[in-house]
Amino acid sequence: MDDFITTRHRTTCFNCREDVDQVITAVPNGAQVVCDNCRATRSYIPIVEEVSKKGDYIKPGCYDIWNLTANALCRQCKVTGPHDVTIGCRNFTVQCRECGFTHLYRFNLEYIDESWGSSG
Ligand SMILES: [Zn+2]
Ligand SMILES: [Zn+2]
Repeated sequence: MDDFITTRHRTTCFNCREDVDQVITAVPNGAQVVCDNCRATRSYIPIVEEVSKKGDYIKPGCYDIWNLTANALCRQCKVTGPHDVTIGCRNFTVQCRECGFTHLYRFNLEYIDESWGSSG
């Protein structure tokens, strides 16, 4: 299966506190954010896929919400175009700008990817 969303966001890592890229990937059956420096990973599991209005799932009061844009192929309208990617402390959403089709994921786990850089 193709990656649906792949993008990066530079910010202060919650784990190593460095200002580094966070690598963001999302596919229909999961999403994750991985620190390019320390490999701290936040993984999200899918809850729902539906057409919704912008902001439906974004709860106020979250201290650090990333609002990103990534190009992707929408499974609903079959258009390849910009998707709004919104990552909050509990939710991860990807929404097609063409038709409003939204993938909602819920925060699941946080861990360090030990398989990376094991030689050092
Ligand atoms: Zn880090
Ligand atoms: Zn669409």
